Amino acid sequence: MIKYHPDHNQLLQFARGEAEPAWALLIAAHVDMCPHCQDELDSITEKLSEQLLPEASLATTDISFDSMMFDIMKLEPIETETVIPEKHFLEWEGRQFELPRALRRVATKTESWTKLVGKLWQAPVDLGDMGKGHFIYMEKGGSVPEHTHRGNELTLVINGEFEDGHRCYDTGDFILMNQDNTHMPVSNHDDGCLVFSFVDQPLHFTSGLARLLNPFSHLFFK
Ligand SMILES: [Zn+2]
Repeated sequence: MIKYHPDHNQLLQFARGEAEPAWALLIAAHVDMCPHCQDELDSITEKLSEQLLPEASLATTDISFDSMMFDIMKLEPIETETVIPEKHFLEWEGRQFELPRALRRVATKTESWTKLVGKLWQAPVDLGDMGKGHFIYMEKGGSVPEHTHRGNELTLVINGEFEDGHRCYDTGDFILMNQDNTHMPVSNHDDGCLVFSFVDQPLHFTSGLARLLNPFSHLFFK
């Protein structure tokens, strides 16, 4: 069950089109998976459109909203629809994972999987001007070495579960980590865990031998 959501302000920024592009992408993908946030976003959008179009909400206006929509629907499409390529499923070692709608376009830019350490895999995704996102797959027992963050780390759980020494995350959870958070994600779920992650600064590894990874931290999800 989804327990972690974007907060109200993040949804509001998203609805206004003011969220950073990478945030917008992950929030949109979470909303695709989360009926709770769909409802909240609907009510935010409704309030925003009332503020922006006060006349549309008045039943007494000459041109009713319905007739305006009717006129719009009558219009012929200007040009034939262009088909935008999408990737509905992501494959890893013969398994298929269904992707939320918002990730299907960017997922066409997914590079191949590479094994990082232990049972941890990553596949970079070219997000154009935003830089790179990553699909990360932890096999059962796989973990990301303990680290803290120099910037923001946004994560959406696509399939499976993981825990990080503080909390357990389930499919659909939206997770924001920053300089205040040190954690060590590990998946003990039978199916492992697939997430989509975006970091704006390289991770900083904090414990034991993993510190030796710091010169290479840009290879991890960045
Ligand atoms: Zn939600």
